[in-house]
Amino acid sequence: ASFKRIQETDETVKAFLTLDEDRAKAKAKQLDEQLGKGDEMGLLFGLPAAIKDNIVTENLKTTCGSKLLANYDPIYNATAMDRLSAAEAIVIGKTNMDEFGMGSSTENSGFQLTHNPWNPEYVPGGSSGGSAAAIAAGQAYFALGTDTGGSIRQPASFCGVVGLKPTYGLVSRFGLVAYASSFDVIGPITKNVEDAAYVLSVLAAHDPYDSTSAEVEIPDYISALTGEVKGLKVGVPKELLGEGIDPDVKNGVLEALKVLEGLGAIVEEVSLPHTEYAVPTYYILAPSEASSNLARYDGVRYGVRADNADNLIEMYKESRSHGFGSEVKRRIMLGTYALSSGYYDAYYKKAQKVRTLIKQDFDQLFAKYDVIVGPTAPTTAFKMGEKVSDPLTMYLNDICTVPVNLAGIPAISVPCGFAQNGMPIGLQIMGKHFDEATVLRVAHAFE
Ligand code: GLN
Repeated sequence: ASFKRIQETDETVKAFLTLDEDRAKAKAKQLDEQLGKGDEMGLLFGLPAAIKDNIVTENLKTTCGSKLLANYDPIYNATAMDRLSAAEAIVIGKTNMDEFGMGSSTENSGFQLTHNPWNPEYVPGGSSGGSAAAIAAGQAYFALGTDTGGSIRQPASFCGVVGLKPTYGLVSRFGLVAYASSFDVIGPITKNVEDAAYVLSVLAAHDPYDSTSAEVEIPDYISALTGEVKGLKVGVPKELLGEGIDPDVKNGVLEALKVLEGLGAIVEEVSLPHTEYAVPTYYILAPSEASSNLARYDGVRYGVRADNADNLIEMYKESRSHGFGSEVKRRIMLGTYALSSGYYDAYYKKAQKVRTLIKQDFDQLFAKYDVIVGPTAPTTAFKMGEKVSDPLTMYLNDICTVPVNLAGIPAISVPCGFAQNGMPIGLQIMGKHFDEATVLRVAHAFE
């Protein structure tokens, strides 16, 4: 059914970079034969999954949306992939994305543009735009995305589906190609909250292969979906409903808050005073980490090697010049600058300090509130080409999502109505570190 649906829709949507039809069908057949033989079924038994192309898959091309990795065929699986496979999900293919996760519209892919299934003139969001579009178009039953500064939640919001960014460290990063290692996290993009709880149950686990993987007890996310939010304290930061937030988005969020109140939640206005520094802080720290992480692409160890160079330095230069797209180059330059001696204290170190202040803003609120709620993005999906030539405007679209990554907390985006242009609005529910259970419970009660 998935491949049929892809055939019908992907000519317009273009969510997938690679399909793995033969192996997926063989796996489905094998699972089918297993049915009724008494073995316990995996939690995701037989479910077709779409995987963002920066999560490494054994013997299945993993490009990160970059021409530099156009021929990269990993020899191992990310831990997340091993866990899906143990739960008996079926990988159907790899989805399009902004190159190395750098972008908010999937227009920075080195290969193709993905279109929003609600209206192909609009972007699907990014950087996990292919995964979100695949779910919105009914091509897969669940997808994996990754979120460094909003890349699961913002495309989920733009495509009218559910996207969950787990607490940093809850899901292993082993085999997730690094963009900004202190932010990156893998999480589910699904049609509804219950599906997100199932996929998270499979993904969340300590992993000795990832030194930042947390050793925490994993609660039962599925039984957390009680529908009950009575007496729950909801903080609504005024900074996330102020200037720059589209009026339709604001209305959608205010309506959603009324629904939560109707269910017995206590809603109060609160403040995250350092919000105005979140975008500049993120856009110093993330490119700094990226400039270091992307140094490994030298044309020797991975991917495409330039064949027109006559010495080693030329070969590095040619491989990187032709392999990387312009946004990736911009980030490498920004990051290299912020980390260079003489500027490190003024930019990188200062940004680290502001990161702590932003985290403390959340800590203070979570001493009193169970969840913090606001929009996922300041706007609904924008038109293709509208912001692509103006990187600063594109960066500003991340204002509602990056504070969460700076603090490392979990957050979900759930659909909350439509704007006048017919595009979906996303409601963001943020929680305490490792309290995905409450985030999911509130999202599920609202949905
Ligand atoms: N849009 C943000 C960026 O370009 C977030 C991307 C992400 O979460 N991978 O960095």
